[in-house]
Amino acid sequence: MKLKKSKKSEFKRFKIIKNSVQLFFFALISFIAIRHMVISGREAAAVDAYCPFGAVESVLTYIFTGNFLPRIQISTFIIFGALVLAVIISNKGFCGWICPLGTFQEWISNLARKLKIPKINVSKQLDFYLRFVKYLFLIWIIYASYVFASLVFRAYDPFITLFHFGEGLIYDFETEKILAYLSLLLVIIGSLFIDRFWCKYACPLGAKINILALLSPTKITRDEKKCTECTLCDMNCPMNCEIMTKSKVKDVECIDCLKCVNICPVNALSLEIGGKNK
Ligand code: SF4
Ligand code: SF4
Ligand code: SF4
Repeated sequence: MKLKKSKKSEFKRFKIIKNSVQLFFFALISFIAIRHMVISGREAAAVDAYCPFGAVESVLTYIFTGNFLPRIQISTFIIFGALVLAVIISNKGFCGWICPLGTFQEWISNLARKLKIPKINVSKQLDFYLRFVKYLFLIWIIYASYVFASLVFRAYDPFITLFHFGEGLIYDFETEKILAYLSLLLVIIGSLFIDRFWCKYACPLGAKINILALLSPTKITRDEKKCTECTLCDMNCPMNCEIMTKSKVKDVECIDCLKCVNICPVNALSLEIGGKNK
């Protein structure tokens, strides 16, 4: 189905706003990372201090010993608290609009579409089982971080690796660094063929956010009277949520990117915050 000219320009405006927000947060984290690595030497805070996942990894250690794991600062817990609040208010807006690793995957997918690299259609059944991997991963990371008293996932975290901009890639080649770059490579290759590959199947922070998102009253709703069942929403959803057949998208995988809302030619979709449409 072709979009009307006015709808097309509306959608273009939405994409400009979304891209600008995502670029801003990506640039902010890049600035913090570069400042840590170069400008202020090792005195400036590392990206770990701004990654809410450190608090998740530290939780058992903090409960049982009252101590933080190495590299974790009080700011990590403050950022995690802010994330919990944001998820309760906005559902998974953090994933759709802020997380730089989510943005990075979108950029890779966009590039792949421009290069005419075809998407892989994962069967519904396989997709269903693969989406549980991230929860197992989350449980293992929390447990292992407590047992080994260290951030076990840090060495393989593609977010941390990405924001080291290739540091240690050519020289100083240790096994840990090879694994770190392999996990980033997995994100890149996966995103070439599958939208938000890491978010869907492997991200442990995404798994945690999904659990919190169950508490959020914010959901995408569909006005059945307006809907023409054109399928545009389902076809364009990066997380493969079922939208067209639901009156409310309760799928915790929805990242609230608002793509479906803005592409719907008859404005049948809206973001409902606590029972009120926005
Ligand atoms: S699922 Fe993970 S990588 Fe994806 S946007 Fe959310 S936090 Fe970022
Ligand atoms: S909600 Fe909108 S985009 Fe989705 S099927 Fe209905 S009319 Fe089409
Ligand atoms: S359901 Fe809509 S808002 Fe949610 S991920 Fe899909 S396109 Fe984005």
